[in-house]
Parts: sequence; structure tokens; C-alpha cells
Amino acid sequence: EEIKRSVLSLTKRKGMAFTLQERQMLGLQGLLPPKIETQDIQALRFHKNLAKMSDPLEKYIYIMGIQERNEKLFYRILQDDIERLMPIVYTPTVGLACSQYGHIFRRPKGLFISISDRGHIRSIVDNWPETDVKAVVVTDGERILGLGDLGVYGMGIPVGKLCLYTACAGIRPDKCLPVCIDVGTDNLTLLKDPFYMGLYQKRDRSQLYDDLIDEFMEAITDRYGHNTLIQFEDFGNHNAFRFLRKYREKYCTFNDDIQGTAAVALAGMLAAQKVVGKAITEHKVLFLGAGEAALGIANLIVMAMMESGISAEEAYKKIWMFDKYGLLVQVRVYANQEPFMHQPPDQVPKTFVDAVNVLQPSAIIGVAGAGRLFSHDVIKAMGSINERPIIFALSNPTVKAECTAEEAYTLTEGRCLFASGSPFEHVVLKDGRSFKPGQGNNAYIFPGVALAVILSGVRHISDKVFLEAALTDQLTNEELAQGRLYPPLSNIKEVSICIAVKVMEFMYANNMAFHYPEPADKNHYIQSKIWSYEYESFMPDVYDWPVSMAKPS
Ligand code: NAP
Ligand code: MN
Repeated sequence: EEIKRSVLSLTKRKGMAFTLQERQMLGLQGLLPPKIETQDIQALRFHKNLAKMSDPLEKYIYIMGIQERNEKLFYRILQDDIERLMPIVYTPTVGLACSQYGHIFRRPKGLFISISDRGHIRSIVDNWPETDVKAVVVTDGERILGLGDLGVYGMGIPVGKLCLYTACAGIRPDKCLPVCIDVGTDNLTLLKDPFYMGLYQKRDRSQLYDDLIDEFMEAITDRYGHNTLIQFEDFGNHNAFRFLRKYREKYCTFNDDIQGTAAVALAGMLAAQKVVGKAITEHKVLFLGAGEAALGIANLIVMAMMESGISAEEAYKKIWMFDKYGLLVQVRVYANQEPFMHQPPDQVPKTFVDAVNVLQPSAIIGVAGAGRLFSHDVIKAMGSINERPIIFALSNPTVKAECTAEEAYTLTEGRCLFASGSPFEHVVLKDGRSFKPGQGNNAYIFPGVALAVILSGVRHISDKVFLEAALTDQLTNEELAQGRLYPPLSNIKEVSICIAVKVMEFMYANNMAFHYPEPADKNHYIQSKIWSYEYESFMPDVYDWPVSMAKPS
């Protein structure tokens, strides 16, 4: 019985693509329709069905169902058309899926660890069927995209992020583990939702929460080894900074919202600097938002400015932040933000548009997660201050973006250098000029960094790694001339592998890599490790022996 059931689950490995011999040998004959299909036909069926759907959530459910039924087909499909499908598996639709997670629920994915499990985390980790996990993406659901506290519904994010590990960087899916930590939720709607899937309690913010995360870190590395990469994703602000500081020297870990976002935003700034022909040190940057993303980006920009020869003090002075309470000035005190709190200008601006007019920044970066706060006046002001204003609306999902691509290009007569965290369609101006906005999303960074980390046997991940990732040149002169700040999404796999090669070289050169022997040709080594969505053969290696050799003479 047991064996028969496991044979049936084998069909997930390639569906109707099993050959006649494989079917006979594995006992699958009759369990599949007679036709032997190619992966091409399977993919075609998918694309045809998807084209009939108009509701994004319906598309999400359909695609994620393929991941359960035929994993190789799922990744094949993603790669066929990453530009069209990434917005479903990832931002913006994943945000919608998370907010409805319990309502659209089909089957559990990933590992759920709740605060009631304290003291037993190791045995829960032991329940995970894979024996050789290399990478974990973990959330506690407190700040899912710009949507706030979604509790256990946040599991969609680690699941989606790890899909990109495989689709963008060829990391084997069985080596990846999505985890959701449940310490309750402060989202009152969810606490009344009959389909909610976590503990119906307010978030535990006591010492027990910290103890739980400690126990989790120990359990993962105890089972899977100290090199296991643990990516923190969408934790609340306070905890994100605390855990990064606490674990960065102790485990192989990074915080994607702080560090991954920093690298992608800096890469965009550096591309913009090439277009504008202005050194990074000559920019003045004004952030909307002063949280994880803003501070991560700002600190990495400072590092890049210092590499260009100016002092930290000078660099800090070029960066301003505006949050819920207004401009960060020296009368306010808050952890992590001190370096960016400056002498207030003579007239302290009350609104963001005032801040733009008073400070005259060359770049504004929106990471507040609070919606359309780059008003028309803000965009127009940027356009009158700068020949080529840099406008990044990085908040996710699309409804939280600080402005639309259309607003940015139209109100600056196509002069702005624009990027957004979630994708926007290309914009055509009245005069016929067309612009394809870049997607300033950490999806360009974390898969490549993760691949390099996993293959190099790294123990800790420093900020320099993210500076290195940001410095990877990805754009042709032609693309730059079109005002592109990021390579097309259709190239994201090549981009990720390029980043992985660069980061791997950096880590070996700086004695951070402990996988021996050091591969001489990093590119070749990485390419050889890339997981393929092509079906494997289940036939044993069958060959002839001269019969005479197997008999006594
Ligand atoms: P966070 O740490 O909570 O920071 C949010 C910041 O925005 C805080 O400083 C907050 O101020 C401020 N803020 C909130 N409402 C505001 C308002 N109305 N006006 C001005 N400032 C306001 O969150 P985060 O991790 O930085 O993420 C923020 C956004 O960035 C989210 O939408 C997220 O999706 C996006 N993000 C994008 C990427 C990407 O790759 N594109 C990556 C990471 C994050 P208070 O602290 O005073 O509340
Ligand atoms: Mn995130």
C-alpha cells in the first residue's frame, strides 16, 4: 500500500511526460493517460489556460497549483515568461494572495512554527522531509510588503521569495525552506476571520518572542549545519534591526528588506549617475520613509560615497529623510537614524513638497509603504529643480507605490529617471516617446547573493557583499541611453548569475568563503550547479556485459 501510494506521488515528477519504459518499470502504466507528452505541450496547455483568466488571484491559485503538481513544469513556465509571471508569483499579486491566504488555501507549503511550540522547535524542524536544506526564508508576518501585519497569512512571502531563488538563480527547490513564525497578530480583521490560520492572539512582544527566534536559529543550524543561509523577510522595523545586529556575526544571515533593498536601490542610483553624468558624491537624496528600506539604502549609499573618496560625515550630510512626523532633524532621537538627523534648515519644511523645495534634492526615494505621497506638486518640483530628476517609488505592492510611472514621466516631460518596486506598464507620452520603467526590486539582488553564499560555504554576510552586488554592471550603453536603470526582467537569470559570480569572487578574495577547493573558474563552477527544469530520466543505466566474463572458464 505504502509503495503504491508513493508511486502515485511520483507522477508529480513529470506528469504525462513519463516514457513508456518508465511507466512500465515504475508501475505507473495505466495511472496516466496513454499519451506521452513533452514538457512543451504541458507548458502550452498552461499558457493557454492562463490566457483565459483575467483575475490575478485566480492566476495565482492556478500557477501555485502547478508548483504542487509538477514542480519542474512550474519553473519551466516561470522561465518561459518571467516578465509576465513574476508579478503573479511575486509583487503585486502575492500581496493580494497573502491578504486572502486562508480564503484561497489549498494545501500547506513551508514550515509553521508558533510561539506555543517553544521548547520543541528542533523536533518541528525534524518533521521537514528534506534532509539537506541550504537556504531558509523566514518571516513573522508583521510587515508584509506595505500591507502591514498579516500574521500567518504572510507565508506567501517566503514561498514567493524562494520561488525566485530557483527561477532567477537556479537554486535547487528541495534545498529551500520557507518558514513562518507565528507569535500572533495585531490585525483585528484577521483575529475575527474564520479562515485565519494562525494563533488567535495579539502579537507576543515579550522575551518569549526573542527566545523563540533564538531557538529557531539554533534548531535550523543544528539540523542543517552552521552554513545554512537564513534570510529574514518582512519583519517589523524594530525587530528587523535588532535581529540583524544580534545574528549577523553568529549565523549566515541577512535581512533582505534592509540589505537586499539597499543593493538594488544603489545599483539604480549608479546607473542613473551614468545617464546623468554626475558622480554619486554629487547627489543629494531625500527619502520618504525612514525605516528598514530607507536606512539600508542610505547606509549603502554612504558606503559607496566613501569608496569614491569622501568622508562619512560629508556623505551623511547629503542624505535627508522625511517620515510620518516630518523631516528628520536633530531635535528628534531614534535608534539607527542618528547619522541622518541634520541641523534643521532655516525654515523647517512641514510637508514633503516643502522639503523638496527647501532641500533641492537630485533624487527622491519613496519607501514609506503609505501610498501615493509623491504628489503632482512633488514630481513637478523635482522636474523644475533637476534636468534629470531621479524618482524612485519603491513601496510595494503597486497600490502603495509613491507615484505611478505615468505620473512620473508625464509630469517631467519624460526627463525623470524612474524606478518602482512593483512593475508598471510602459508609458507612452503624447509626443510618442515611450518609456519602460525599471523595477527597483530586491529580486534583482537576493537570488544571486544567495546562490553565491550557498556555493561558497560562507559563514557571515557583510554589508560589503551587498555593495559588491550593487556594483555589478548590468546595462549596455544602449540601454543606459534609453534611460533604463535596470536590465529587463527577461534577463533576470543572467543578471543573478552575474551577481553570484562577482560576489563569489569577492568572498574568496576576502577570505570569507570556506568551500574548498576554491573553484578556479567561478562562472563555470556556478553554471555547473544551476538546477535545470528539464525532466530527468527514471530509467536505470542498462547495458550489456559479455556473458562469458561472468562464468567460470
Ligand atoms: P518600515 O521599516 O516600517 O518603514 C516605513 C517608514 O515609512 C517609517 O520610517 C515610517 O515612519 C514611514 N512612514 C509611514 N507612513 C508614512 C507617511 N505617511 N509619510 C512619511 N513616512 C511614513 O518599512 P520598510 O521595511 O522600510 O518598508 C517600507 C516600504 O518599502 C514597504 O512598502 C515595502 O514594500 C517597501 N519595500 C520595497 C522593497 C523593494 O525591493 N522595492 C524592499 C523592501 C521594502 P514611522 O516609523 O514614524 O512609522
Ligand atoms: Mn520584503
